[in-house]
Order: sequence, then structure tokens, then C-alpha cells
Amino acid sequence: MNDSGNSSWLSNFSHLYVERAAFDYSFAQSIINRFPRARIVPIDDYKSIFARPRQHFQIQKRSMKLILAVKKDRFLYPGSGHSQHFNLDNFYYNTLMFNCVYNCDYCYLQGMYPSANVVAFVNTPDYFEATRQAIAERSNIHQPLYVCISYDTDLLAFESITPYCRAWIEFAQEQPDLLIEIRTKSTAYRAIRDLKATDRVILAWTLSPQAVIDRYEKGTPPLRQRLQAVQTAIEDGWAVRLCFDPVLAVKGWQAAYGHLIEETFGYVDPAAVRDVTVGVFRMTKSYFDRIKRQRQDTDVIYNDYELEDKTITYSAAQRQEITAFMGERLRSCIPEERIAVWT
Ligand code: SF4
Repeated sequence: MNDSGNSSWLSNFSHLYVERAAFDYSFAQSIINRFPRARIVPIDDYKSIFARPRQHFQIQKRSMKLILAVKKDRFLYPGSGHSQHFNLDNFYYNTLMFNCVYNCDYCYLQGMYPSANVVAFVNTPDYFEATRQAIAERSNIHQPLYVCISYDTDLLAFESITPYCRAWIEFAQEQPDLLIEIRTKSTAYRAIRDLKATDRVILAWTLSPQAVIDRYEKGTPPLRQRLQAVQTAIEDGWAVRLCFDPVLAVKGWQAAYGHLIEETFGYVDPAAVRDVTVGVFRMTKSYFDRIKRQRQDTDVIYNDYELEDKTITYSAAQRQEITAFMGERLRSCIPEERIAVWT
């Protein structure tokens, strides 16, 4: 699977389960129209499909179904301690979709959700209204409301089917006190390229060494293509964030990640990058345990990790070694105040 076109998505989603209430939304209708051959199955509540017991995430991943639903509440969540937020106080994320069309071995969604099927929430006006209200009520009025909208998914990868990025960029253009981050591994930047760049939107690309992509980031575009998308977005005037996250302590990680940084800034002008984030592998323990029960086919789950405050991650010494290495290499390219590190 890759995002060079949408034919792979179309063949994946043979069934569309649609909540009866979702049919009323134009966003749902436009998605349904993308799947002329899919079987449309009306349902009362997405949970009847998504939260069924005894589903197997990786088996479902081979043939994902799409569920269109109406989210009833919780349109914003406070930002997680697992994320870097550049000292932005009003930090939130939302969930426009459950799950992701990619299938990274280290992805915590495998442990978080009972199903690999994709749920797309179609009531975007309710999300916008909740965001407007949060902007008005934000605690630090000297800073914008900062919302990560592609937090538990990769929205841009699925943009040709569910055009959330377009809708949210257009929304942000009308909201002076909003800053959104759209994080992706996709190269589908062309799907939003006609939109006018705005500094209220950060386009954030996750970058990994090609060997890590090949081994652990199933279905995602190669590094070089991600860098091309980054460069095009920068040339078009977008604020671009580069995310070296998660850094995995694979054999020879210093050489792999040192080369990644060299290749990145050999291709992209560091002065044109808004900022950079760095983080090592980390995962909530309950998600990690659930994945471990389901998967023996990836060594990323079977490394020597430690438990720290309900989070599975590398030992403090190894984290320090990795972040010191990454920090030193990055500081030779980009000023320290534009680098955020999860420790
Ligand atoms: S791109 Fe992100 S959300 Fe998607 S599978 Fe990979 S880690 Fe998970």
C-alpha cells in the first residue's frame, strides 16, 4: 500500500458502514461518492462494528472497512505528555478519524483500538464549533489555541477520500487565534497544494532512515519522496515541521540517524524549516501489552524497554544517549530554540 494514488484505498474498502445519522452530512456524501462499487451498510452506531469483541487488529488491517459516524462529544482533548508542544500552553488534539491507512509496526493504535477498521467522523461543523468555543475560552490569551488534528492517524495520506486537511486549513484561515498541526508521512501534499499557505497551519513530516521505513513503516512513502513533499511545501510558503520521532535504537542507529539528518538538510534548507521535533520510542504500557499479545512478527516490540510512569520506553541512560546525539547533530544545522525534544 502506498499513497501514490488512491486505487489501493478504493480496493481496500469493499464495505462502507454508515451511521444513519451520518447520511445527513455533505462530508459523508462526498466520501460515499468516492466508492461507487462499495456495499453501503446502514448502521445505528459505529461501535456495533468497531468495538465488537475478539477482533484481530493485524488480520483486519489486510482488508480494512470504512465506517462513517457522527461524533457525539469530546471534540477536543488536552494535549498528551507524550508529545512536544513548543511551550504552547493551549495545547489540544482532536480525533477526526480512528485508525490510519498505514501500518507502522511501532504504532500504538494497534493497542489502543479494538479494531483496525477506519472510522471517519463526518460532523465537521460540530468540531469547528467546539474549536471556536475553545479559542474563546483558552487559558493563555497571548497564545493561539494549538490543535493537532492528525494525532492518532495520518490525515493527509487519506486526503483524497476524506478531505479533512482541506476543510481544516480553510477553517484555520478564518481563525486568527488558531494554530493547527497536520502530521504525516504521506507525499499527498498535492491534494492540498492549490490552497493558499497560511502560518496558522504547520505541515509536519515524520522522517525516518530508509532502513527503518522499509522494516517498520509498512506502506509509507520512501524518505526521498517525503523530502520532496517537504521541499515543495516550503517553496509554496508553508510552515513546515520535521519530526524525527520515534527514533528507534536499531542496530547502528547512530550511523542511520546521523545519515538521515545529513540527507534531510542536504535536501531541505534548514533555515526554511519552522522547527524540528525529536522523540524516542515510547508507548503507554497497556497498549504495548495488548500489541505484544497479538504480535510476534516484529522485533520492535521485543526490545529491552523499561517501564517509567506507565510508559514503555528505553532506559533513561539510553534516552539520554539518543537525544544527546540527535540534539548535537541537529544543532549543527538548526538553532536550538527551534528544536523540541521529548525526554
Ligand atoms: S503513520 Fe502514524 S498513525 Fe499511521 S500507522 Fe504509522 S505511526 Fe500509526
